[in-house]
Amino acid sequence: MTADCDLQAALLVYAVPARTALTPEQNAGAHCVWCGAPVPPGAGLDLGGHGGWSPYGCPACYEVQRAWLRTYLEWAGHVRACATCRAGRWCATSADFQGCLTESAHRADRPPVVCARCEKEVEAAERFEPHIRAGGHPTRIGYVHAAVCPGDERRWPCP
Ligand SMILES: [Zn+2]
Ligand SMILES: [Zn+2]
Ligand SMILES: [Zn+2]
Repeated sequence: MTADCDLQAALLVYAVPARTALTPEQNAGAHCVWCGAPVPPGAGLDLGGHGGWSPYGCPACYEVQRAWLRTYLEWAGHVRACATCRAGRWCATSADFQGCLTESAHRADRPPVVCARCEKEVEAAERFEPHIRAGGHPTRIGYVHAAVCPGDERRWPCP
């Protein structure tokens, strides 16, 4: 399985709205699951539905959703592998990722970033990092507040 196949599968799980939140046309692949516009004939992207569900995306939405999800998953991968981030401190790479993520999430019209620990919306000046909730399907991808700055052990006041 290539990384692109993984991303394709992740897109269906994390970025496509729930079947129950979509219109019959969206569930049938006639309208884009994100913007609701009719999918141009031949130009729609199959999002890999199954069991009679065939969600499709228009090329413009597909591109921005993919960009957002790729940034999210790359950042989550970094946090898992980076000793500084794992120690609850803040590294320059994560700072870059936060900027890219914020921009791509805005373009993809994702919901506001909410901290999974304190359940508060993350303010523009606050640091956050990806947080993938463990457990069965569907797993949820989200965010938590992160450390203030490199070398600073203080964390945001999250219960
Ligand atoms: Zn669209
Ligand atoms: Zn790091
Ligand atoms: Zn928090």
